[in-house]
Amino acid sequence: MLRVVPPARPRKLAKVPFVELADGRLQGVVSSGSDVERVYVASVTAGTHAHHCSTNNNRPCGGLRGTPCKHLHALADEAVLQYGVDRVARYLRVDVGDGVDTGAGLLARMDSRHEPTPAAVVFSRFLRHLAYLELPASTAPAPELHWFPSTGAGC
Ligand SMILES: [Zn+2]
Repeated sequence: MLRVVPPARPRKLAKVPFVELADGRLQGVVSSGSDVERVYVASVTAGTHAHHCSTNNNRPCGGLRGTPCKHLHALADEAVLQYGVDRVARYLRVDVGDGVDTGAGLLARMDSRHEPTPAAVVFSRFLRHLAYLELPASTAPAPELHWFPSTGAGC
C-alpha cells in the first residue's frame, strides 16, 4: 500500500489553512466555523497523544471536553489528506492497523487526553508560512535592496 506520495489529495485550505508535522506534533491552524476573524490552533503530540486546541490568543477552545474537538478532527482529516494516513500515524506513533484512512479513525486509535500547549509558537509558524506564500514568485532583485549604495561608490 503506497500512499505517502506528496502531494496527496487537494486540501480545504479555507478551513485548515495550515497543517504540519513538526516539533514532535501534528499541529495547525483551523478556521472558526462561525467567525471569520477567529482561528484555532490545534495540536496532537507524538507519542503521548496529548491534544490541545485554543484560539490564537490562547483562549481555550470551548469544544474540548475530554475528547478532541471538531477543530482537532478537521486538523487530523487535513493531515491525512496532506501526508497520507501512514505517515501521520508513524509520526504520531499511532498503531492504526488496517482500515483506518480518516482523521477521525486516527483520533479514535489514540488514547488522547487534553494537555495545554502554547498556541503562540504554532501561530507564528503559520504567519511565517503566510508571509512566504504572499511573496510574489519572482527572481528579480528585491527593490528595497537597491537603496543600499554599492561598496566603493565613494561620496
Ligand atoms: Zn477546538
